[in-house]
Amino acid sequence: MGTKGISIVGMDVNELINLLNRAYADEWLAYYQYWIGSKVVKGPMKEAVIAELLQHATDELRHADMLTTRIIQLGGTPITEPKKWYDVTNCGYDAPDDPFVEKILNQNIHGEQCAIGVYTKILEITQGKDPVTYNIVLQILQDEVEHEEDLQSLLEDFESMLKHR
Ligand code: FE
Ligand code: FE
Ligand code: MG
Repeated sequence: MGTKGISIVGMDVNELINLLNRAYADEWLAYYQYWIGSKVVKGPMKEAVIAELLQHATDELRHADMLTTRIIQLGGTPITEPKKWYDVTNCGYDAPDDPFVEKILNQNIHGEQCAIGVYTKILEITQGKDPVTYNIVLQILQDEVEHEEDLQSLLEDFESMLKHR
């Protein structure tokens, strides 16, 4: 750990590490929800939905990577036990037990909306206190905003297709 790099953080570092670990759990659960969703999804427009779900899965895993790097820089330990993801997650996990396209899109839209809320909150907390974490979280938030829009426009296409057939 870099002592000077940590000393410039103007807030409780352990509290910050906890926030980042909770988001880290969210990202792994989101990754798996997208990934397994892309395997089981059924219905019209399936191919387009699979492509989007897989792209998002890749992004969520990259977010987990970004968070774990920052947790370690801050002298923290990323969660090592997957069972603990469930204890600390903000956004939870929504199993795609109903594999219909519309249901899976709605589940993931809900997850993205939760993620947008979580990262907006961490931005508020770190603003003016930890520019490095702020910057990382801002990059993640930009992706989550894009994810929500991607899924909502797929859902819109899906609904208009049903209406006009
Ligand atoms: Fe993410
Ligand atoms: Fe996302
Ligand atoms: Mg996308």
